[in-house]
Formats: sequence, C-alpha cells, structure tokens
Amino acid sequence: MIEFKNVSKIYHTRENTITAVDQVSLKIEAGEIFGIVGYSGAGKSTLVRLINNLEKPTSGEVLIDGDNITELSGKALRQRRQNIGMIFQHFNLLWSRTVRDNIEFPLELKGLSKAERQQKADELIDLVGLKGRETAYPSELSGGQKQRVGIARALANDPEILLCDEATSALDPATTEEVLELLLQINKRLHITMVVITHEMHVVRKICQHMAVMDAGAIVEQGAVLDVFRHP
Ligand code: ADP
Ligand code: ADP
Repeated sequence: MIEFKNVSKIYHTRENTITAVDQVSLKIEAGEIFGIVGYSGAGKSTLVRLINNLEKPTSGEVLIDGDNITELSGKALRQRRQNIGMIFQHFNLLWSRTVRDNIEFPLELKGLSKAERQQKADELIDLVGLKGRETAYPSELSGGQKQRVGIARALANDPEILLCDEATSALDPATTEEVLELLLQINKRLHITMVVITHEMHVVRKICQHMAVMDAGAIVEQGAVLDVFRHP
C-alpha cells in the first residue's frame, strides 16, 4: 500500500515559492489502479515523483508497505526504486537500441547474464504483444508499439508498483484503448499496483477503481471512481 500523510512539497525558485503539493493525504491499496486527474500544473507529476523518491516532501510522510521511503538510503533505497516501474508520455526509449535491447537495459544494469536477460525479455515481449518486432528500432514502431516497449521495460524488474505519467496522452483514441486494455490485463495477471496520472477523465473511467482530483496542489475530491463521477 502507498500512503501519503499530510504531504506538502514546496519549491523555492528565485522569483517565488510554489506549493506544488499541498497537505495531501491519500491511500492507494495494493493491486488497485488509482487515477490522479487534474489540469496541467495541478501537482500530479510532483505527487508521483514523491512515490519513487525522485523528490522528498517538504513536510509529511510517504509510506510504502509501511516504510517511510524518505528515510531510506543506499541499498534499501535502490531496492525500493527497482520495485517501482514507470512509463511516460513520450516513452523515453533509447533510440539507438532495438526493442529487445531497450527491454533488456534495466536487466543489464542489474547485472543479469545474457541468458537470463533473454529469457526475461522473451516473456515480456510476449506479454505486451511485440512478438516479431524484437529487432526493430523505436523509430520503426507506431506510438502504441513504443508504449508497449516502455511497459515491457518498466516491468523488467518485476515491480510491485507501476507509475504511469500521461502514458496515453500522445496516442490516438484507438491506440489509447489498446494500451489501456493491456494495462488492465497486466494489473489482473501480475497484481501490480498502478498509479495513473492523466488529464483525460475517460482514462480514469475505463481502468481505475479509485481516484483523486488535484487542483493547485491539493486534492479537491477523492474516492471510488463511480462515486466521484456521480457528483453533479
Ligand atoms: P502537473 O503534473 O499536474 O502538470 P507538476 O507537478 O508538474 O503538475 O507541477 C506543479 C507545480 O509545481 C507547477 O506550478 C510547476 O511549475 C511547479 N514545479 C514542478 N516541478 C518544479 C521544480 N522542479 N521547481 C520549481 N517548480 C516546480
Ligand atoms: P509518436 O509519433 O509515437 O508520438 P515520436 O516519434 O514523436 O513518437 O517520439 C516521441 C518523443 O520521442 C518525442 O518527444 C521526440 O522528441 C522523441 N524522439 C523521437 N525520435 C527521437 C530520437 N531519434 N532521438 C531522441 N528522441 C527522439
């Protein structure tokens, strides 16, 4: 479970002080798909960067499975990070590497042997439906295929949490549907907790069980998706 306890994140720039996340408390249950919606600048990305410890809260606590992650360092922090996969709007693939080599990249960093990497990559290529495209380069793939590579790479370390930052925002509607179906399937099969940031309500409606609406750093509404959308 991911828990935010009264978390604030304040950025100080030369000109001003920005409260990107403002006293947020929320719980994301293990195995669920949780949506975070809000306009640009609402604080969604900052909230997600607090989950994988790319940012530290100015105040409050972020707990994952009961551990206060801001207190982790060294090996414990590395293990925690490996346990969290992430996918992005613009895929963030390595453009000089093939599909297979993109997916094997995190496993190389981890020091796995060639044989182990190949076996894991084969499983992942199957899972995301990229069989036959292993030797293609990202520039030869459609947007949806690129995101499938992003998803496979994010799953290489068998994470318990997958963070999705506007993962379908660069895709056309039909491709968005396909990628959302894939995320649903993966959630069912692997029981991965997913946090889905999006500015598109229909994405949340389709795949999330619970959601939070952010505005100016604060959560202005949260609950079961059906209840939030039932509001007038
Ligand atoms: P969203 O993901 O909803 O678009 P962000 O979390 O990216 O929102 O940003 C929330 C607010 O914090 C914005 O006003 C943004 O300009 C500001 N912000 C985000 N990151 C930084 C940073 N590293 N330094 C200063 N301000 C930042
Ligand atoms: P799509 O057409 O599916 O949206 P793009 O080819 O536009 O995908 O790539 C998405 C992102 O990747 C963009 O931000 C783009 O700038 C970046 N990108 C595309 N090609 C390269 C490349 N050869 N090297 C580095 N970044 C690239």
